[in-house]
Amino acid sequence: MGGGHTHSHQHSNIDSAEYPEWNFSPGAKWIKGLIKDRTGNFSGGHFSDVNLSSALFTHRLDDSKHIELQRWSAPNLTKPTFEEALKQDFQPAKKGESIGPSCDSNHWYKITVHVPSEWNDYERVQFEFDPGCEAMIYTVDGTPLQGITGGFGGDRRVEYIIPPEARKKGTHSFVAEASCNGMFGVPWNGDIIQPPDPNRNFQLASADLVVPNMPAWGLLWDFTALRELIGTLPGNSTLQNKALTVANAIMNAFYKNDPESIPAARKLADEVFGEKWEERGEGIYEIGPKEAQVWGIGHCHIDTAWCVLWPYRVTQQKVARSWSTQVDLMDRYPEHRFACSSAQQFKWLEQLYPPLFERVREKVLAGQFYPIGGSWVENDANMPSGEALARQLILGQRYFESRFGLRSRVAWLPDSFGLTGALPQIIRGAGMNYFFTQKLSWNNINVFPHSTFNWVGIDGTQVLCHMTPVDTYTAQATAGDINKALTNHKNLESSSTSLLVFGNGDGGGGPLAKMLENLRRLRGTANTSRELPVVHMGRSVDEFFDHLKTSSDAGRKLPNWRGELYLEFHRGTYTSHGSIKKGNRKSEILLRDAEHVATLASIFKGDGYKYPKQTLNDSWEKVLLNQFHDEVPTSSGMVYEDAEKLYAEVRADTEALIDSALRVLYPGSLPLSSTPASGPLTLFAHNTTPFARQDIVRVPLGLGISARDVLQTTSDGKEGYVVFEGGAGGGLVAPGNANFKGLNDVTVDSAGDDHFVLKNRNVQLIVSGGRIKSLFDVQLKRELIPQGQTGGMVIYEDRPNYWDAWDVEIHHLEKPQELKFTNVKIVATGPLRAAVETEIKYGKSSIKVTVMLIHEYLGPPPHPLSTLHFSAEVDWHERHEFLKFKLPLDIHSDVATYETPWGHVQRPTHKNTTWDAAKFEVCGHKFTDLSEYGYGVAILSESKYGFSCQGNVLQISLLRAATAPDAEQDQGKHEFSWGVLPHRGHFLQSFVPIAAYLFNSPLHVRYIPHGGAVTAAVSRVPFLLFGRDSSVILETFKRGDLDSDTKDGPRTIVLRLYEAYGGHVSVHLQINVPGVVAAYATNLLEDDVGAEVLALERTTGEWGEQPGELAIPLTFRGFEVKTIKLVLEKEG
Ligand SMILES: [Zn+2]
Repeated sequence: MGGGHTHSHQHSNIDSAEYPEWNFSPGAKWIKGLIKDRTGNFSGGHFSDVNLSSALFTHRLDDSKHIELQRWSAPNLTKPTFEEALKQDFQPAKKGESIGPSCDSNHWYKITVHVPSEWNDYERVQFEFDPGCEAMIYTVDGTPLQGITGGFGGDRRVEYIIPPEARKKGTHSFVAEASCNGMFGVPWNGDIIQPPDPNRNFQLASADLVVPNMPAWGLLWDFTALRELIGTLPGNSTLQNKALTVANAIMNAFYKNDPESIPAARKLADEVFGEKWEERGEGIYEIGPKEAQVWGIGHCHIDTAWCVLWPYRVTQQKVARSWSTQVDLMDRYPEHRFACSSAQQFKWLEQLYPPLFERVREKVLAGQFYPIGGSWVENDANMPSGEALARQLILGQRYFESRFGLRSRVAWLPDSFGLTGALPQIIRGAGMNYFFTQKLSWNNINVFPHSTFNWVGIDGTQVLCHMTPVDTYTAQATAGDINKALTNHKNLESSSTSLLVFGNGDGGGGPLAKMLENLRRLRGTANTSRELPVVHMGRSVDEFFDHLKTSSDAGRKLPNWRGELYLEFHRGTYTSHGSIKKGNRKSEILLRDAEHVATLASIFKGDGYKYPKQTLNDSWEKVLLNQFHDEVPTSSGMVYEDAEKLYAEVRADTEALIDSALRVLYPGSLPLSSTPASGPLTLFAHNTTPFARQDIVRVPLGLGISARDVLQTTSDGKEGYVVFEGGAGGGLVAPGNANFKGLNDVTVDSAGDDHFVLKNRNVQLIVSGGRIKSLFDVQLKRELIPQGQTGGMVIYEDRPNYWDAWDVEIHHLEKPQELKFTNVKIVATGPLRAAVETEIKYGKSSIKVTVMLIHEYLGPPPHPLSTLHFSAEVDWHERHEFLKFKLPLDIHSDVATYETPWGHVQRPTHKNTTWDAAKFEVCGHKFTDLSEYGYGVAILSESKYGFSCQGNVLQISLLRAATAPDAEQDQGKHEFSWGVLPHRGHFLQSFVPIAAYLFNSPLHVRYIPHGGAVTAAVSRVPFLLFGRDSSVILETFKRGDLDSDTKDGPRTIVLRLYEAYGGHVSVHLQINVPGVVAAYATNLLEDDVGAEVLALERTTGEWGEQPGELAIPLTFRGFEVKTIKLVLEKEG
């Protein structure tokens, strides 16, 4: 400015006041990055003795005058009840002491605190208990109050608030149980998949009586929310800059020795959270925008068994700790809603912590605590059979209904490793229309394209599915989570709402108070700024889905996803831990058989037979528990012992049930597995499958079995082979030698010690040079193995990128090593059964494989089937190697077929796209098949679930050898078998599903001592299906769940049938059971309401059946499952 103004101008006074004329300051331009960095130093860290952290507690006492501490440690990793523990001899204990060992030792503390009277005016007094591990606080009479998570992780929760009444009294006693495992078990070095450290100790770091400075905590939470906004929002947004300005102002306003500075600093935050946001409490959710975009729901994912890291008994404690904490939070935060799945976990709580169960029940009835999912556990959804998946929901829904008077409306499997396309129909059948999941966000090849969509199953049934865009069920309720709920939503064009499922999980815990505090602040922010999505609290998951349904015009605005939800990850879980897979398959089949024969025995009984409903239910519960989503996929170590024990119990119990029912059905009969009596025996068998069958059964000789029945003996002369033959519909099967002698025998020839030929009238197999060189259809003169390729065993290097037992990665296919059968020798020469035994030495392992061909299998008509049986005994001592059986085929097809629960799925054999390439290892049940027009070959499995078909090479996965989480997984002895079944006609024209069914369901062979005749209580096959096609399978055969033992209680038979090939079909179900008065098509829950009345008609003979019999006409769509309830007349 030019000078010379020596006089004052006559400016307007008003102008100068509004904008001063003179300016001496340096200006306010900030260096934004430095301010942002500064906010990182307001709590904790290097300045914690002078920053906000130094102000968080007003008083702290840890002396013995104020805190009396006594401890008793349960010996030998036992887990006593509260009552047992409290009777023990407690000794004085002190802060700083060490407790252990991990995993899973339990330490009980009796604690009495004396609160100084001068503390009466403080807002809160709390006991801070940090044993470094998890703990539970109880009242002195044993009511669990809340969980404790020690240590300094993000899940830390160590405060127990002294109740105000107790504080007034001055003295308060309570009990704590510390359990020496962390939230994730006790992993080495914090690597969560490593085996647990069994010898770690924990330190009682805190047992202090403290007065928290609540305004300082409030400021800490304010500041945390501001920092989240700063870190989450785009850098040049108004709100982000405002949050940073306010955070900086707060740092300037806070003085560590001036308590008054804290409320003043907090007031500054109102600029972001809104005026009076805190006074409104939960009312913050009632103001502002009406339309909520993000629906917050508290959740606590408790893995019923997480790999080796905890066994079931630890889970039971986790349930109690986590849920008591939530009940406590609901009292303090009325907007808090908490969804929790798994009837099994509720049942544990009911059995082990009855007072807490009552508190939970009150909250359920009050609509704050939601049992969700309707399932027994959060199950794996690849490997359980259709019936097992149904039972997960049936038992779960029945439990919820019996205890809380409600059924879940939302199916809930957020963490299962892929979801079979059979599931939508099963979910709908169990009374649910909605489905929540999220695991597909873990795909490691393709990004799943939807967040909210109609999931359409293999039969066309749909469920409304939401995969939270937050990509987790353990969100921390941060501004970042809320923002992601919208920014990562993949269908905003058709839906703009998301579920925020928050709370610590996997190892339990659930939401913390600080999360609920944070959400109030973030809602306050959204009430005044549209830059953050609006989060809503206080509503249920059911309401969220109801809203989705309405806002999407009943799903019509949403995209569809058809078929399975294949997880592109964790593909090793179909094979890892072979004995668990085998336990699962065998238990499912034993249960099916037990229900079948027990139902018949209860209908055609002699006096005194009662349907063993309780034992069957108990066994189902055990099988369902072991199908937990980390259990059947890859259990090991600690929980593996639990699982094996449960499978052994199921086997013993169901075999006993089968025997006792068959004694009723065939009076005087005994199982062949019992020691046969002397004298002549009359052999017979019972067939629980609905299929006609022929079986060649090995029986002991020299015990009175008629030589007439034995058509071949083993080389040592101790055992013989008998042909059993039975008709459609199952039931009695008798030795059927007469038809077989001399017809179509099987033979084995060798040319030197390296060339063997197994042959019957249909098929011929050549093992030469240690490999399968030829598989030949004798009648068609068709070679099935391509020129220059061979079948046999193969080893792959198996080193996944991280999740060892869970993953097999695509690169394993790049390092195959074909193994040779050696020392091949003939062990059976026909005419019924011909076999060669082979050995493979590989590394430290030995593998014995017996390859067997049987007499031509004549039934069921019209196509002859000859299955090559492979049975293996393996002593397995490899590490990180994958054993498979491969079969290259001269068959060209873009897809291979794999059995799924109640149906099948076709998956590509090529890698056209990354979606195709991702399916290099897949799950199947009893078979996989590669077919072209006119011909196909199937591999049958009795205990394996991993398969693949790459190009023309069909493979079954046999053994893996991971070392984490279980260092010894799959080491040692294994026995398993598989079959190779060439068939004329495409898979869809074949009997492969039936052959696979029979491969898995052996006959129950029995005898009548002293040569007595077989008398059967059931004179006719109880049910028969007639139709143009035989594509409907009668799967389940049981008494109604609601039947009662009382004299005039309801008596029903429930049948479950499914269409196995994927097309519409009409059948007649012929009923040969007396006393059927009505029939209904009902749902999985066997509800009468909504059931369809079925016509009871008489057969006409049009499909080859006897005319004039009682029958029900049924029409199926492809893969449809029907539950038929037959009402029997009351007992007279
Ligand atoms: Zn899980």
